[in-house]
Amino acid sequence: MNVLHSPDLMEKLQILAGAAKYDVSCASSGVTRRNGGGLGNAKGYGVCHTWAADGRCVALLKVLFTNKCVNDCVYCACRAGSDTPRAAFTPREIADLTIEFYRRNYIEGLFLSSAIEKSPDHTMENIIEAVSLLRREHKFFGYIHIKAIPGADPALITRVGLLADRVSVNLELPSVRSLSLLAPQKQMPALLAPVRQIYEESAVNRDERRRFRSAPKFVPAGQSTQFIVGATPDSDLTLLKASETLYGRFALKRVYFSAYVPLHDNPLLPALSSMPPLKREHRLYQADWLLRFYGFKAGELLDDAQPNLDTELDPKIIWALRHLSFFPLEINRAPMEMLLRVPGIGVVSARRIIRQRRVCALSYDDLGKIGVVLKRAKYFITCRGVYRGDAPLRPETLRGRLAPPPVVWQPSLFDGGSYD
Ligand code: SF4
Repeated sequence: MNVLHSPDLMEKLQILAGAAKYDVSCASSGVTRRNGGGLGNAKGYGVCHTWAADGRCVALLKVLFTNKCVNDCVYCACRAGSDTPRAAFTPREIADLTIEFYRRNYIEGLFLSSAIEKSPDHTMENIIEAVSLLRREHKFFGYIHIKAIPGADPALITRVGLLADRVSVNLELPSVRSLSLLAPQKQMPALLAPVRQIYEESAVNRDERRRFRSAPKFVPAGQSTQFIVGATPDSDLTLLKASETLYGRFALKRVYFSAYVPLHDNPLLPALSSMPPLKREHRLYQADWLLRFYGFKAGELLDDAQPNLDTELDPKIIWALRHLSFFPLEINRAPMEMLLRVPGIGVVSARRIIRQRRVCALSYDDLGKIGVVLKRAKYFITCRGVYRGDAPLRPETLRGRLAPPPVVWQPSLFDGGSYD
């Protein structure tokens, strides 16, 4: 029987795809792999994790292997003490579902996460078997993102790394204090062990592949993680410093932020009636973008006196308002690293400014044509010595000019996808 006609399997899919929606640690693959005579292609462009109610993903089948968990993390819908309906796939069910969905053009790949059933090793072995069936039996060459389970045998992490394109280890909480409060069965060193292992084995693999072109790829799309935002009192500064450390020390590709959705009453958690902090999540993605592409440090954006991001204005504008002594910058002379600090100038437009001013001095009109957002940038630049801002360089005045008009706020579907 076709797996999609099995009521039992569809019920599991409903439960386990629904449970996977709290995991945001997948987005773009960034990996390209040629089809070796089988099914699917892993393309370099992004893959989306949008889940539709009829069982379809835009591009990835995003499911948990199981939501049965031995741990009891207070914030989690899968925790052992929750009365949520439970289910678990078999490895073959995961493989068959992926192939059936792929053949129907519902998806391009798989994002497979899991709670911890019985033990980290048991869970990891099941996931490995499912993905082995896809890769070896079905010859599936599409994108696969796997969740590595902390505490699993390092040999299993290695096997996962050789099968998957991307691997993520969700740290969930950025501090030891929050972990001991909300996830007492988790310890930071154990969570970081697979992150470190993947980082080290990736470095060895890059070296091997330089010497032997036939060497198998190990986690070719890199690793990512997720932090929950708003379940604990951890500040944005703590979250950004943890992200900075992960990027710097373990070369993570992405840190994702997931606004905490209150699911049950617990004195350790925000009230059930409180809204998920989506605006905060959005600002964190903007700050994360500044860390990764604009040369900012977490300590420049926030400090102990101001540990949380402004929700009204984006972090780049806030930085500029706090450092008005650097402005206005002459657009025809400022170095690249300072152009990137101007609100309204993104990486692409900064590069265009540098390139084009080698030929001739840019005019104010030229800036608009090359992508500078002048309604923001005009307060922070001069062009050929002329300041075109219609307000003096004072934080309170500029804040009023740059604040968006009050609207019903809705987060972008493409958080972090661009910044200027
Ligand atoms: S280990 Fe993961 S799945 Fe299990 S309760 Fe904790 S957060 Fe949830």
